[in-house]
Amino acid sequence: SKLDGRGTFRFFEPAMDARMQARRQLELDMRHALARREFQLHYQPQMSLASNRLVGCEALIRWRHPERGTVSPLDFIPLAEEIGLIVPIGEWVIRQTCRDAMRWPQPLSVAVNVSPAQFKSDRLVETIVSALSNSGLPAGRLEVEITEGVLLQENDRTLQTLHRLRELGVRVSMDDFGTGYSSLSYLRSFPFDKIKIDRSFVQDMSHKPDGEAIIRAIAGLGKSLGMTTVAEGVETPDQIERIRAEGCTDVQGYLISKPLPADELMTLLAPR
Ligand code: C2E
Ligand code: CA
Ligand code: CA
Ligand code: CA
Repeated sequence: SKLDGRGTFRFFEPAMDARMQARRQLELDMRHALARREFQLHYQPQMSLASNRLVGCEALIRWRHPERGTVSPLDFIPLAEEIGLIVPIGEWVIRQTCRDAMRWPQPLSVAVNVSPAQFKSDRLVETIVSALSNSGLPAGRLEVEITEGVLLQENDRTLQTLHRLRELGVRVSMDDFGTGYSSLSYLRSFPFDKIKIDRSFVQDMSHKPDGEAIIRAIAGLGKSLGMTTVAEGVETPDQIERIRAEGCTDVQGYLISKPLPADELMTLLAPR
């Protein structure tokens, strides 16, 4: 540490600088990542508990950074949101997802995550319309997953966008259900097609006494509102049996499959 010009200690500054520097570098790199084709999509299958068959996949972005290796979306999506890059990146996700899904040997549904800044951009509906028509993917196979963040500053336009997607035939899922403050009230403002129960509830189920009660309540809510309920982050056979018993309709998690690169998913889906 040293005294700066104003006589105050600047003890934390070097570490702060290093962090700022790293962030700025990540931002610079991200600005080139699309053109350099460093993004990749992985697809994680979802299984219906009624049929034990795969019914859909969720597209999850990966960034293969030339020096850092694979960067988790948790580490770059928030920054992309902040600096507006999420719009072009999200647009790439939607177009690539539609193209990939058209090549699958089974007509599974495919879900894309749309973050708040992307949802608010006026290009979203246009992008989806053009991605569907360019790829030939039927709108009914595409799902848009949004989190509470999208509805946090809910206004006429947010609802209008949701309704326009619905009119196109695109389905809308509420992601990470139960983790926010007002998940329930959002179900009242918009009729979602699907509720995705956050992984934390599935994990709690095994070691908290009331864990199952929460899953049961959400599954029941979904059933009475006519919504599909997907339990996320299912990792053990024990969890899947409990989830089945509580009445969820679908599951997603490492037990079924990890997110897979497009070609590995094709192998998994190929008729044997
Ligand atoms: P999410 O939408 O809640 O996605 C589920 C996350 O849980 C994924 O992490 C997935 O790999 C992970 N997961 C799935 N099954 C299991 C399991 O059994 N156990 C455990 N421990 N984890 C499991 P991932 O791929 O790292 O993505 C993290 C988050 O990044 C996503 O959370 C989503 O919010 C965001 N994200 C990913 N791709 C995109 C994208 O294309 N656009 C936007 N806007 N956000 C994305
Ligand atoms: Ca999601
Ligand atoms: Ca989720
Ligand atoms: Ca999440």
